[in-house]
Amino acid sequence: MDDLQQRQAFEQLVIEVTACRKCPRMNKSERVFGYSCGGLNASVMFIGEAPGRLGADDTLIPFHGDQAGHNFEGLLLQVGINRYESFVTNAVLCNPKDEKGNNATPTIDEVRNCSVFLRRQLDLVRPGVVATLGAVALKATEIIEAHGLSIADHVRKEKKWYGRTLIPLYHPGQRALVHRSFSNQLSDYQAVAEAVSGRRRRKMRSGGKYSPKVAAIVELILSQKPRMSYFALHKLFYLIEVAARKEIGKRLTNSYIVRQKDGPYCVDLHLAKLKTMMPTLYVDVRHSKVSLTAQPARDLFNTQSHDRSLLDKLEERIVISIVRRYGGCSDAELKRRSYLTSEMRDILRAEKRGLRNMFNVPLLLPTPEELTL
Ligand code: SF4
Repeated sequence: MDDLQQRQAFEQLVIEVTACRKCPRMNKSERVFGYSCGGLNASVMFIGEAPGRLGADDTLIPFHGDQAGHNFEGLLLQVGINRYESFVTNAVLCNPKDEKGNNATPTIDEVRNCSVFLRRQLDLVRPGVVATLGAVALKATEIIEAHGLSIADHVRKEKKWYGRTLIPLYHPGQRALVHRSFSNQLSDYQAVAEAVSGRRRRKMRSGGKYSPKVAAIVELILSQKPRMSYFALHKLFYLIEVAARKEIGKRLTNSYIVRQKDGPYCVDLHLAKLKTMMPTLYVDVRHSKVSLTAQPARDLFNTQSHDRSLLDKLEERIVISIVRRYGGCSDAELKRRSYLTSEMRDILRAEKRGLRNMFNVPLLLPTPEELTL
């Protein structure tokens, strides 16, 4: 199957998933499946249990937006696996809720219903490594081809399965941390990273809640313009990455950026992550509009400050020039500016011609060199 056929088959699958009504209690939930899952040529597929009510069911990006998503993204960051080289999906593609509207565990019938789609995802993406996150995901793979593994006995152990390497892991949500600590999970993810790189040991990074370079850029943006909308921050970050590609031939980070309804959205700038990066950031939410206010510069000496040396002079100049150029624009104008970039223009053209549904498509795909940033 060539790239075009693969993309067409994937888009057909998205159409079928979107129309699926096999599980009655999922009727009001989103179908969390599409380009936001990651790259179609990903080397590793992560399979979770189900989209979370406060996470993927809201953001439409698997494992993003809730505590399980933050833990998952932190683990990936520390072992150097990028979302661009991963495909992240779930055993069931819709959020199952109990009578009170809380997250519920999918039933075996629901997992069976959705396993048809899971098999097609595996056949389309053809990842070399498959990591299941939790018992439900492991059960879903058993439906596709028997492996006889259990999470208690086989966590982190590799097994050849369905022509791939299967590695059972615990779910990264808070409840599973009781059974498997964060540091043990970190070693588990390191094993996945090594399997992905063909046993080449990937360097573990320190920290893990956010990328230090992203934090340094955010701090620099806000030092130039201490008050802005959350919306504007995402657009400025994207425009900075576009400018970096143009001026120095590479992005400043390998942060995962997808095209959402209102333009580029960067997963590393999720509000909860921003608050961790900058504890003194004041966040105001009014009529669903979010605005950010940074501490005045003089107070920054008394608060945590990120390592600006992560940005060289040229990179710093790019950030500052984009903020000076566009920082004063309204949200609408910033959106327009983002849509004027060649990548977004290509998306609009393709949509206009009815060629593709480009919602949530990853933007600024990193080169192999950028993936290691
Ligand atoms: S969970 Fe899967 S099978 Fe069930 S309704 Fe959603 S897409 Fe269909």
